[in-house]
Amino acid sequence: MSTTRPLVSVAVPLYNESAGIAAFHGELHAAIKQATDNSFEIIYCDDGSLDTTATIVRDICASDRHTKLLKLSRNFGKENALSAAIATAEGQAILMLDGDGQHPIAAIPAFIDAWKKGAQVVIGLRTDNDNEGMIKRAGSWLFYSLFNRATGQKLVPGTTDYRLIDRSVQQAFLSLPETGRITRGLIDWLGFERVFIPINRPARTTGTPSYGFRQLVGLATSSFVSLSSIPLYIFGYIGLFITSVAFLLGIAVGVEQIILGDPWHWRFTGSAMLGILILFLVGIILISQGIISLYLSHTHNQTKRRPLYIVDYRGSAGLQHEPEEV
Ligand code: UDP
Ligand code: MG
Repeated sequence: MSTTRPLVSVAVPLYNESAGIAAFHGELHAAIKQATDNSFEIIYCDDGSLDTTATIVRDICASDRHTKLLKLSRNFGKENALSAAIATAEGQAILMLDGDGQHPIAAIPAFIDAWKKGAQVVIGLRTDNDNEGMIKRAGSWLFYSLFNRATGQKLVPGTTDYRLIDRSVQQAFLSLPETGRITRGLIDWLGFERVFIPINRPARTTGTPSYGFRQLVGLATSSFVSLSSIPLYIFGYIGLFITSVAFLLGIAVGVEQIILGDPWHWRFTGSAMLGILILFLVGIILISQGIISLYLSHTHNQTKRRPLYIVDYRGSAGLQHEPEEV
């Protein structure tokens, strides 16, 4: 392996991309080679593909010293595959993009320029998402507004996973051990000097999007659960509200009906009073659930220690054969 760091590492997660990967690689290789003056590495992380993606990338590695393959032992999901590729990257900057052609390779020089001018995080900002259905767009709007409110973070809508991070950001990113992660949420959480680059997101060239509606909802839920404890507490708050209302009602009824002898003719029946009592007790149960949740969330924050992924195979045939060359 060369002793000097490559200028840029490109991290690409791949899941069942056999149809388009060869063409994608050709285009990516040419673009990054030119943009970095031949100082780069490309890391493909095969996320347990069921097709021949890994074999194709192995073949690419055999003839291209700049390319490495990281093959996970099974499908761990894009976010973890991307983390695996980022962890392996040795460059002074790490550029991450999807392997399905949806992150335009033509924008690479703009990312590198922004970084050279001092940005530590360069983020692709989607300018049009006409290719996405109404439901996906509405879902993404809902996610961003709820997420920002619940976590106090500011995720900018339209930001993509097409990003370049400085090595210093990579080191900080790798110190975050949590599972159920969403890469862009974590990078946003880290802060650093940020610059946005507008990109046009074309439709997928080959294959099918592996993030269906269910996976997207799953991703949104797990980001919520990992970055916010509000869903846990919310029933505690509801309980507090119900109990307070029932308490006030109970006092009002007691005073008006029993002590004063019903001067305003509220005529509360016995079952209405029973209803108020039940409400009061339900509220107390919910509050106690909220308290349990406090402890649960504390534990939950302490237990995110599982490794994010398991690497099955790591290497670059080219590098093994010609270890000393740059
Ligand atoms: N991907 C992955 N593991 C998965 C699903 C997807 O590594 O379980 C990769 C996929 O090959 C692509 C990128 O992540 O390079 C984005 O996936 P996709 O196009 O399915 O997502 P979308 O464009 O809908 O965000
Ligand atoms: Mg895609």
